[in-house]
Amino acid sequence: MFLLTLFFLIFSSSLPDTSMTDCKGVQVTDKLVDWGYSKPSVEKREIKAIIIHSSYNALSPDSFSLRGVIKEYKEAGVSPHYIIDRQGDIFRLVPDKYVAYQAGKSKLPDGTTSVNEFSIGIEIINTKNNGPTAAQYSSLAKLVRCLKFKYPIKYILGHSDVAPDRKTDPWQFDWKRFNAMIRKR
Ligand SMILES: [Zn+2]
Repeated sequence: MFLLTLFFLIFSSSLPDTSMTDCKGVQVTDKLVDWGYSKPSVEKREIKAIIIHSSYNALSPDSFSLRGVIKEYKEAGVSPHYIIDRQGDIFRLVPDKYVAYQAGKSKLPDGTTSVNEFSIGIEIINTKNNGPTAAQYSSLAKLVRCLKFKYPIKYILGHSDVAPDRKTDPWQFDWKRFNAMIRKR
């Protein structure tokens, strides 16, 4: 029995672990909310876009307070799927399978207007004057690569790309740097 187990361990570890290939090292902490999302209208929603946002806490002097930002979402009845704090810690607020209220009235390049239905929203905690930290870029890149691996993602866009007349976030976001990071193997 021992040998059989050993054999299995050796054999299975030599197989490429495709389920984890691009999600390795992505640590996500659940902090699920009970507002700001709904079940999709179809059994399994199609996820073809990732929308990147910025948020800060405008309610107290600590602009980077995760608690404060989440409180703001609650008051507005909105939520992203994921939020990344200044230390680069990733929190899941809404499971991927649900439609999170993050993009609002917006449009994808292919003309899709119900963007929430077809996308995953990721918020980075940063202000208009303070861009994302190195830790946030690193975590975001890992998370996006993982999501790209799981879903047929066609677009990775900023909120301002899908709602240019209403939104300016993500602020101070270095797309060149980010794009180079998600291409890196
Ligand atoms: Zn936004």
